[in-house]
Parts: sequence; C-alpha cells; structure tokens
Amino acid sequence: MKINILTLFPGIIEGVFKESILYRAIQKGILEINIINIRDFALDKHHTCDDAPYGGGPGMVLKIEPIIAAYEGLDETGLTILLTPQGQVFNHKMAKELSKEKTLSFICGHYEGIDERVKELIVNMEVSIGDYVTTGGEIPCLSMIDAIVRLIPGVVGNYDSIKEDSFYEAVLDHPHYTRPAEFRGLMVPDVLLSGNHEQIKKWRRIQALEKTGFVRPDILERLNMSKEAEKSLKK
Ligand code: SAM
Repeated sequence: MKINILTLFPGIIEGVFKESILYRAIQKGILEINIINIRDFALDKHHTCDDAPYGGGPGMVLKIEPIIAAYEGLDETGLTILLTPQGQVFNHKMAKELSKEKTLSFICGHYEGIDERVKELIVNMEVSIGDYVTTGGEIPCLSMIDAIVRLIPGVVGNYDSIKEDSFYEAVLDHPHYTRPAEFRGLMVPDVLLSGNHEQIKKWRRIQALEKTGFVRPDILERLNMSKEAEKSLKK
C-alpha cells in the first residue's frame, strides 16, 4: 500500500515509521510512506499556509492554495481522506475496508481547520477518530494508518493473532497472561496451565463475551449469538 500524508508538521509523523511493525512493513516492501510538507507549496516568500477566517473570529484557517498544489504534485492519490472531528467515526470495519486499497492520501488539518473548499475539490471521505478534538490531524492520521496497515496480510507476523483481537469478530479480546504463574499472590487462572486446549478455548470465549457484556453491552446486542454462546454468557 502507498500512503501519502499531507501535513504542516512532518516532524510529528516521521518517527512513527522508524520503529516496530510499521517500520518492518516498509522494510518488507508492503508499505510505502510519502510525507508531504504543505509548507513547501506555499506561494509567498514567507511560506504562509494559514490566514485569519473570513467573517472574523478566533484562530487561523489553513489556506487552500498550498494544500491543492501539494496534492496535485502527487503521482497517485487514491482514496483521499480528510481528518476532521466532523467526519464519520473510524472503527475496525472501516480499517478493514481501507486496508484493501492500493493508495490512500490523508490530509491533516490544524488550528481551526482547513478552508472548506478543499473538501469540494479533493476529499473523498471525512473521518474522525472520536468525539473529541485534537490540536491537529497528525495524531488521528497516525492512529488510523496503524490500525489499517496491521490488517494487511504479512504486516503482523502471525495473522491469527489479529483474528483474536478486539473487534475482529465484534467482541473484545480475552485476557492474556505470561510467566510467572504467580506474582505477589496473583495467580494465572488454573485452566491456562492445564494444557487442555478445548477447555482453554472455551474459557477464553466466555471471558471475551463476559468482558464485552460488562464494558460494551451495545456490541453484544448487535451480535447474532449462537444458543450455546448465549447460554455460556448467562451462566
Ligand atoms: N474547529 C474544528 C472543529 O471544531 O471541527 C477543529 C479543529 S482541530 C483544533 C484541528 C485539526 O485537528 C482538524 O482540522 C483535524 O484535522 C484534526 N482533528 C481534531 N480532532 C480530530 C478528530 N477527532 N478526528 C480527526 N481529526 C481531528
């Protein structure tokens, strides 16, 4: 997948692709990241990229010309996503759909946001990462990219581990433990030490359903549960 990121603050973004799984995805040739500094496309000698809002009011608005010039300089744009708290809320389903795209372009806003006309000219999707406001689109964009890229086959070593993650099959993940079996009197549940794979599988399923029921009952309501799962949950 090729990802273009248009930003006024490339420094916020660069480090994320120099570590861990996203770095390895680049090394393996599965992912290509192209970070474009919008400021390089400003028209005046001061490289101005923001201006006061028409109609007055506080804050600054990102100007349209440098954003469009940066975008029009791209070889390939693919689906173009604007990060905004006013967008459709990002979730696993959207991440899965977007992980099938060949090219994605992200536009990061800042200050009061971007000139509204940018949306009309180049944006295909407006996406929010939740009902709160961050200072810029860079962190929301990185959050989305991480969630999308890890769903591309080959990025995470063992794809089965992804299938057990929260939301993959709607419900939340089961609890995880590793050595030591006892820490300050806190024990690992006996079933996990039993070697009985059938029992372990069942225990994990029940734990996942229980956790989901307590924390996110809205998810369980949407699930079409089997009679057996429903019985386990009630028990
Ligand atoms: N005035 C805007 C509003 O209330 O809708 C918020 C501007 S915010 C301070 C600056 C930029 O951060 C936005 O243009 C957007 O790119 C990004 N941003 C802030 N919150 C976000 C969210 N929840 N999801 C995605 N992007 C967000």
